[in-house]
Amino acid sequence: MIELNQLGQEIANCRACRLAKGRTNAVPGEGYSQADIMFIGEAPGEREDRSGKPFVGAAGKFLDELLASIGLARSDVYIANIIKCRPPGNRDPLPDELLACKPWLDRQIELIKPRMIVTLGRFSMSLYFPGKTIGKIHGNPVSSNGIIYFPMYHPAAALHQGGLKEVIKADMQKIPELLVGSQPVEKAGSEEPPEQLTLF
Ligand code: URA
Repeated sequence: MIELNQLGQEIANCRACRLAKGRTNAVPGEGYSQADIMFIGEAPGEREDRSGKPFVGAAGKFLDELLASIGLARSDVYIANIIKCRPPGNRDPLPDELLACKPWLDRQIELIKPRMIVTLGRFSMSLYFPGKTIGKIHGNPVSSNGIIYFPMYHPAAALHQGGLKEVIKADMQKIPELLVGSQPVEKAGSEEPPEQLTLF
């Protein structure tokens, strides 16, 4: 979709916060421009900064496995981060950086019109579930304005805390049934859906 590509260009040129100085590439996101499901992670790491693509490291490999476990590929969904440029040394994003970057995510959501937003980790969770704790609300969807918000642990958390792996896998399994019960969103564009769309 042209608008999404144009938005990617604008993001690549963004200088709204200090993270612009240290980036090799901004990482706008990638996937199907009319995806029903949008995954929102935290921020690019070193490999993402180098490649300009989201979730290409170990956490991304686990995310691919999670998608495959419900019959999906990256090309069926849209994967983005709340922060588009790598924080130095992979530190946590700062509040002013989150604020500066959020309009990009809002515009992506406006264009893609997902039926479900899956937040990965506590930073993207905090956008839609302010004040909540991930340990308490993961796997519990909330519907608002026609979108299902579904909080999950970050895939990287499972790599650090092995016990979380099964929790994340179990939460992922809830996604297909949640979508079956939700209303389709009318999408404007003419782009053909990817062939391997097995859920709906
Ligand atoms: N972690 C994230 O949150 N996003 C990425 O793109 C990679 C790792």
